[in-house]
Amino acid sequence: MFSKILIANRGEIACRVAATARRLGVKTVAVYSDADASAKHVAACDEAVHIGGSAPRESYLQWERIIAAAQATGAQAIHPGYGFLSENEAFADACAKAGLVFIGPPSSAIEAMGLKAESKRLMEKAGVPLVPGYHGTDQDPALLQREADRIGYPALIKASAGGGGKGMRVVEKSEDFAAALASCQREARNSFGSDAVLIEKYVQRPRHIEIQVFGDSHGQCVYLFERDCSVQRRHQKVLEEAPAPGMTPELRQRMGEAAVAAAKAVNYVGAGTVEFIVEQPDGYDHPETMRFYFMEMNTRLQVEHPVTEAITGQDLVEWQLRVAGGEPLPLQQHELRMQGHAIEARICAENPDNQFLPATGTLRVYRKPAHSAFERSDVRFDDGVREGDTISPFYDSMVAKLIVHGDTREQALARLDAALAETRIVGLATNVQFLRHVVASDSFARARLDTALIARESEVLFKQDRVGEPTAVAAAVAQTLIAEAALAGNDPFSRRDGFRSHGVTTRRFDFDVAGERLQASLTYGRDGLQLAYGEVQGPLHFAPLPDDRFDLRFADRRDTVQTWVVGETVHVFTARGATSLVEIDLLAHAGEGEGESGRLTAPMPGKVVSFAVKAGDAVKKGQALAVMEAMKMEHTIAAPADGTVAELMYAPGDQVAEGAELLKLATA
Ligand code: ADP
Ligand code: ADP
Ligand code: MG
Repeated sequence: MFSKILIANRGEIACRVAATARRLGVKTVAVYSDADASAKHVAACDEAVHIGGSAPRESYLQWERIIAAAQATGAQAIHPGYGFLSENEAFADACAKAGLVFIGPPSSAIEAMGLKAESKRLMEKAGVPLVPGYHGTDQDPALLQREADRIGYPALIKASAGGGGKGMRVVEKSEDFAAALASCQREARNSFGSDAVLIEKYVQRPRHIEIQVFGDSHGQCVYLFERDCSVQRRHQKVLEEAPAPGMTPELRQRMGEAAVAAAKAVNYVGAGTVEFIVEQPDGYDHPETMRFYFMEMNTRLQVEHPVTEAITGQDLVEWQLRVAGGEPLPLQQHELRMQGHAIEARICAENPDNQFLPATGTLRVYRKPAHSAFERSDVRFDDGVREGDTISPFYDSMVAKLIVHGDTREQALARLDAALAETRIVGLATNVQFLRHVVASDSFARARLDTALIARESEVLFKQDRVGEPTAVAAAVAQTLIAEAALAGNDPFSRRDGFRSHGVTTRRFDFDVAGERLQASLTYGRDGLQLAYGEVQGPLHFAPLPDDRFDLRFADRRDTVQTWVVGETVHVFTARGATSLVEIDLLAHAGEGEGESGRLTAPMPGKVVSFAVKAGDAVKKGQALAVMEAMKMEHTIAAPADGTVAELMYAPGDQVAEGAELLKLATA
């Protein structure tokens, strides 16, 4: 075994590799860019070397610097992770020249599988089934058109050098082919530096089933069963599971053996994945008529390797290190077993309701579900970030991977849903709620899997991020009351009518949820608080729970609620879901037009009830400053911006005229 390795990657995969190395007593060296100077992966390693600017081409793709860092720190081997340099044969060769072990396959295998068209020619020779198509070297557009016409429509044009779901065009009919080809070639040239394409029959409602393979330098090769990665958006994986639902032992063996044949054809060593597209002509319940075709081989550890680890109980990074060090495979084919069912969800910074547009920002709140160490646990959480970290535009939008394991698929599903509900992220858009909708969708729950699942279930997947509005509104109201009481130095939970410090009976709340204006009114009655929201009216109860949670009862529902306020937005989380409500402060907004002086004026005649601040206090935007009563309603006046309270112009109990300045705020 090596005594020290360098990890030429970042984020969750760098942390993942470091965890196994640590367990095996192998020292680790991290590399980092400017943007990653204080990243989690740097802290996860024993040493770290700065390798350049934030953009990948200035750092994580700078292989001379990475090799120099390995030599300078005395590392014996380099683990490339996935992405970046992991499938770069020139880098693998350069490592060897520098006397370093590249923890991956031989460069010849990377090269053979690097281009989709060439790898298909190789696979054809090895007898691995291929999707009907054209993968020749002649790229004459007229020939490509004829080939597509021969294959039939819909057809798929793929960039031979493509990856990550990029460089693909579905063509519906012959007349559209020329334009689609030109656009695919343009993207391929820009993204992959080569415009060579291949053409495939576009399989209808296919499944993506891939086989994990492992080879060693003694000529052994095994398969560690399959993963179903059919749930995709934009040809990119969203959920992955193992084993594939409906798989039969007979089909598993045939696919496994085909994958091993593919790997052996290129003298494969290390971890690899052979991806198959699977046609299910008779639908989901007929595995006996399912046909599988080779798509591509990824010559690296895959993002979704944890589901294989969960069902086999093996640590694939440990296997990689052992094999790269020259040891034989830890287990032979007949010793490998599967147990239970595992599912992985990729948690990404993106907006599912806006075409999955990647999002950037700060993880202001980042709470993970209860989980344990990465081997064989029921809930595993792999990430490369911490609360307060930034998801920058430089790298992948994947924030974390949540992996669950259960005895059955049903149990794994239930664990996944519960763990997603406990995953709480505030500060940027994520797909966490979207993932919950996918998991709950009829197609996924019943394992009706194919790559069109998200499109088919779109009705129930998108724009559904509401906890159940009355609960969300009640939670936001409760949150406001708790915050105000805390500011005023009262215990918000001490008395049922703890908020009723004066004669006011009704108070109005306005919220904006996804552009929609919601209004609620709260009455301080003799029996406690009554909330009215639309048609829903009833008592509002809340009581504290540990960890900043509270128990909320409203409208025949009882929820454990957790809220975070960022600016004017209240983020509400319950086990049922999450919602963000923007609190509209009528008075604060009324005062906003008055210029930079921060004049805060009464929009109507009324009485000053209380001040939550005194002169000299520093206040944050959105913080409650004063409470005013007007027209039998109570209104909170919030700071329109960060600043310092310069002067209070009135005392509690004072009557004020419309337009009267209540306090002066010096804003920065
Ligand atoms: P997997 O196949 O392991 O599920 P992906 O195909 O999504 O993973 O790719 C894994 C990582 O590698 C992602 O960060 C992706 O952006 C990157 N990647 C994959 N192929 C390429 C490529 N040809 N060029 C650049 N990045 C790639
Ligand atoms: P990448 O290198 O980007 O991962 P792949 O060739 O693995 O490219 O294809 C990515 C995805 O595109 C597959 O998982 C599948 O959903 C879809 N796909 C690829 N080939 C076909 C095909 N012939 N018919 C239908 N869908 C396909
Ligand atoms: Mg692929």
